[in-house]
Amino acid sequence: MSEFDVIVIGSGAGGGTLAHKLASSGKTILLLERGDFLTREPENWAAEDVFVDGRYQSEDTWYDGGDKPFPPQVHYFVGGATKLFGAALYRLRADDFGEIQHEDGVSPAWPISYDEMEPYYTQAEELYQVHGARGEDPTEPPASAPYPFPAVSHEPRIQQLSDDLAAAGYQPFHAPCGVMLDESNMPYSHCVRCNDCDGFPCLVHAKSDAEVIAVRPALEHDNVTLVTNATAVKLETNDEGTAVSGVVVERDGSRETHTAGIVAVSCGAANSAKLLLASATDEHPNGLANGSDQVGRNYMFHNSQAVLALSKEPNPTVFQKTLGLNDFYFAGEEFDHPLGNIQMVGKSQAPMFRGEKPLMTKPAPQWTLDRIAEHAVDFWLSTEDLPRQENRVTLTDDGAIRLTYTYSNEKPKQELYDKLKSMLGELGMHDGHLLHHNAYLKNEIPVAGVAHQAGTCRFGSDPSASVLDVNCKAHELDNLYVVDTSFFPSIGAVNPALTAMANALRVGDHLLDRLAA
Ligand SMILES: Cc1cc2nc3c(=O)[nH]c(=O)nc-3n(C[C@H](O)[C@H](O)[C@H](O)COP(=O)(O)OP(=O)(O)OC[C@H]3O[C@@H](n4cnc5c(N)ncnc54)[C@H](O)[C@@H]3O)c2cc1C
Ligand code: SF4
Repeated sequence: MSEFDVIVIGSGAGGGTLAHKLASSGKTILLLERGDFLTREPENWAAEDVFVDGRYQSEDTWYDGGDKPFPPQVHYFVGGATKLFGAALYRLRADDFGEIQHEDGVSPAWPISYDEMEPYYTQAEELYQVHGARGEDPTEPPASAPYPFPAVSHEPRIQQLSDDLAAAGYQPFHAPCGVMLDESNMPYSHCVRCNDCDGFPCLVHAKSDAEVIAVRPALEHDNVTLVTNATAVKLETNDEGTAVSGVVVERDGSRETHTAGIVAVSCGAANSAKLLLASATDEHPNGLANGSDQVGRNYMFHNSQAVLALSKEPNPTVFQKTLGLNDFYFAGEEFDHPLGNIQMVGKSQAPMFRGEKPLMTKPAPQWTLDRIAEHAVDFWLSTEDLPRQENRVTLTDDGAIRLTYTYSNEKPKQELYDKLKSMLGELGMHDGHLLHHNAYLKNEIPVAGVAHQAGTCRFGSDPSASVLDVNCKAHELDNLYVVDTSFFPSIGAVNPALTAMANALRVGDHLLDRLAA
């Protein structure tokens, strides 16, 4: 048993960033991480090992609403999911913080405004070394500073795509990106601009992930302790049930308990809900901090599609994730409801297709997988999914995660796909042919693609309808915080990591005030 000022559970985008923020305070901080450091090895950059064999995917089994088991796309390492992420670091749009009418219902307002989050987005962009270009994306929210680094340039085929989109009247932009690339001085650039980035670990530690950017620098402070292979299994409370009194951890087959004045849970949306639900007491019979019955509910993960178009000319792009398109993000003249975001994903490689259903290509049915990969231009389409009470994490009798989920906004998802498909002829692609592929989602069970999981402990001002207050402190406990993507009341249609990072910095400011007092 040891006593700390703060325990942070989980070292990913939320927890790692919070630990970094608190590190220089001199307060004693214990960072608990169920995984280990991700080994740097040649397999980091081997498509077959990463995408087909799932080398870095957890061995967890979760269950869907019908109790069918599936292997979730989760990654337990120092740095969490950011070790594998595509480093597309988007701000939510300012309007995402308000109520938005969607095809299937309302995306609710956040309890804080975009203006309150803005300074922390700027800090998060600085910390995570985001590259981008302001003023290109028509939906871009106001920013108090330029991007700290220039946009990553398009390679010729993507520049052509950008030019073709612009010529057709669309407004493509350089995607915000967290890679430590110095194009003006490549011999000294950490990032070598390779084709194994999105969905891969970075062998040379040049991706702005939470391990490299947040956890390692935090550990340079003597007051910060990281314990790896340490899974938090239960939170204990005082007799009154008003504060967390101990964090029970399983490590090397035995259990130990750590204590701290403040406990911040950041295990990822599903695992944070699991930890709270598994910590029921007499005072909290439905799970810790769950008097509102909201813990685990409102699970979201984007209604996403990974698709590829076939370029008439080969697409030799190496680093493809440089372009975005938000022309259909909000309702407009053509659609009276939002459709979502279009962006590029990492360039597909033939080994990624192994194990997929045969990719039948109408323009060229005889094409080999190698040839398809050579011509593929790969897109990621994200439509916002709505928070629904019935979309939730519960626990099975054995304490495993059960994820019950029904899709929302299926029509706008289809419309976004159809819209892109209708544009292909203008973009130098084989007209009207857009292939779905699962390389990025990794397997055939859609609910297993939990990369963008969010929303199981939403924050709000009404304790009967939310788990956390505006500072992400549990309404019902004095010292319990949740700082991963669980706090999202809605998810928008852009990638979630920068918002988790910015929010961790915001909560960190609150905790520094509290610790000073
Ligand atoms: C392949 C892939 C690509 C992605 N691409 C992008 C992208 O381009 N842009 C973007 O914005 N987002 C992207 N994401 C999503 C992004 O990585 C997540 O939104 C973000 O990491 C979530 O942060 P988090 O703190 O909520 O959880 P995580 O970063 O997952 O951190 C949770 C941490 O908690 C640990 N943990 C879990 N349970 C316990 C426990 N009981 N005890 C101790 N530790 C525990 C985990 O090991 C993990 O380290 C991607 C994700 C994946 C998988
Ligand atoms: S593109 Fe750069 S950041 Fe990404 S994996 Fe390659 S070297 Fe690392």
